[in-house]
Amino acid sequence: MTKNPNILNEFHWLLDLVQSLDVGIVVINSDHQIKLWNGFMENHSGASPTTLIDKNLFQAFPELDAKWLKQKIESVFLLKNRSFISWEQRPYVFKFKNYRPITGRAEHMYQNVTLQPLLSPCGKVTSISIIIYDVTDSAMKKLQLNQANQVLERLSQTDELTQLHNRRHWQQCLEREFERFTRYQSPASLVMLDIDHFKSVNDNYGHQTGDTVIQRVAHALSQSLRETDFAGRYGGEEFGVVLANTTAEDALSFTERLRKKVEALTFSSNDNQAFTVSISLGICAINDNVRDNSHWISLADKALYRAKLSGRNRSVIYRDTDSEKNLH
Ligand code: GH3
Ligand code: MG
Ligand code: MG
Repeated sequence: MTKNPNILNEFHWLLDLVQSLDVGIVVINSDHQIKLWNGFMENHSGASPTTLIDKNLFQAFPELDAKWLKQKIESVFLLKNRSFISWEQRPYVFKFKNYRPITGRAEHMYQNVTLQPLLSPCGKVTSISIIIYDVTDSAMKKLQLNQANQVLERLSQTDELTQLHNRRHWQQCLEREFERFTRYQSPASLVMLDIDHFKSVNDNYGHQTGDTVIQRVAHALSQSLRETDFAGRYGGEEFGVVLANTTAEDALSFTERLRKKVEALTFSSNDNQAFTVSISLGICAINDNVRDNSHWISLADKALYRAKLSGRNRSVIYRDTDSEKNLH
């Protein structure tokens, strides 16, 4: 007799607690009828429990992804196990606005959600609870951190002057392409190119004008690339380009187009003197004789050296008959 008022009291407290928790709690039965809708859910959805109790969850909230959520709910009923949905898998289950001042930039509340089976006294699962945690703060921090890391990664891979890949990153890409060739025998050509008589550009027009020349040649180069090609600044005024799925002959059409494009650029010095520059290019198509990526670079470099020796402003394809003694 004395126990009953205590039980009632405890039940009342518990209900009060559930209502005031800073966590969303919804209970539904196997027909998806809403049996409990706590204060958190009321505050964020704007819908009160009096209008929702015994209503079908999916009719009351048609914006829910019914097919997906029903499947999740079904498996909780069947397996009697908890199921978790993290914001990283799906940013939210219930689309609520974000009101948190610190994370005011989030357009909606990010949620972690737990689906939990509720056992009746005889051990049957007749209802489940859907528990919704507002994780907007930590989700936004993680997203911002990811963004910052992406920017940092891009910066660490990019040459500041030309915005092309820097040498280290370009060589990593080259290594990948080399592995692709050894695994799949997919053709690729490496082009090394260098601005002709660049020292005299610096000497005649100054270092700053020299920088502009490097930038505009790099721009002409990046404008000529396809999605699968990648170019990097290999040294001061020397660049490397990998042309995927390209034979030496096709690479030659590419280098000739680029060579003419650069030849057509006009520059002006600080005191308005107009001048032009040219580039020399060496091509090496990958083949079974290429031992590794640095060997590949050295072969393309030999062809570039031959282009320089034979008068500059030209493209030369590396041939296996090229030997050190012919080049020096
Ligand atoms: P070649 O036709 O044989 O290539 O002659 P070159 O004068 O172009 O070759 P060389 O390698 O002798 O000169 C390259 C010059 O590029 C020397 C160096 O001072 C200059 N240089 C390297 N990096 C930069 C840079 O970032 N900006 C500027 N303005 N000059 C640079
Ligand atoms: Mg040069
Ligand atoms: Mg050089």
